[in-house]
Amino acid sequence: MQSTNHNHPVSSATQDKPNGSEKCSNCIQFIPGDTSDANGECKVVAGSISPQGWCTAFSPKS
Ligand code: SF4
Repeated sequence: MQSTNHNHPVSSATQDKPNGSEKCSNCIQFIPGDTSDANGECKVVAGSISPQGWCTAFSPKS
């Protein structure tokens, strides 16, 4: 049994892995941590954000 379409209570569903080439480290909303591997923060999603993460609010830097 598997659930493939469950909804999250927040508007921007976050995941801790990239969505193809899209990931937090190349998103305009990402605020990097101390190193390129460290978790940072996001301007629109609360909490500690992995540079390898992704969410539906992804916006490419350029
Ligand atoms: S908006 Fe989403 S994809 Fe972009 S940095 Fe924040 S959590 Fe990552």
